[in-house]
Amino acid sequence: MTAPTIGVLALQGDVREHLAALTRLGVPTHPVRRPAELDDCDGIVLPGGESTTMWRLARTFELLDPLRDRVRAGMPAFGTCAGMVLLADRLLDAAQGQETIGGLDITVRRNAFGRQTESFETDLDLLGLEDDVHAVFIRAPWVEEIGSGVEVLASVDGHPVGVRQNQLMATSFHPEVNADDRLHRLFLETCC
Ligand code: GLN
Repeated sequence: MTAPTIGVLALQGDVREHLAALTRLGVPTHPVRRPAELDDCDGIVLPGGESTTMWRLARTFELLDPLRDRVRAGMPAFGTCAGMVLLADRLLDAAQGQETIGGLDITVRRNAFGRQTESFETDLDLLGLEDDVHAVFIRAPWVEEIGSGVEVLASVDGHPVGVRQNQLMATSFHPEVNADDRLHRLFLETCC
């Protein structure tokens, strides 16, 4: 079987880091900025960055509806931080009018752990991985409510920060920033 091609939404944020992680895992990958660039993608990574900026740019680049259609049709997606916000069906503390791609039956609170100054790092026990993950949280969201089909992979102080629902997976933290590829591998193995 040939490896699936995994696109990385490349409007803003940690695009390079995700492309590098996928490349290290031997996965064909390319940036996605235009709807046509989604066509050959078997899955997509939605990076960390700023979800309001990505939402506005996705609208401008006419990518929002194609992304929604593909995710609704079952395309695997992995969102980190702002990417988790993009995959959430419901948002708290959203910007005025802010829309998401949706797909994950979760309610996400943006900037739940505080502003930039309250960014932090911690070691997390994550379901499906043997050793702890060193997790970097930057103006991170948390999951405030989950639907019945959602599996919690990791929590901080009782708040889910890693979730999976069928072919969709999201983390509040940034596995892409410290070159630990185990989360990308987990996504590939369990969602794709
Ligand atoms: N707070 C940001 C947002 O809502 C996410 C921050 C991040 O991706 N580091 O998009």
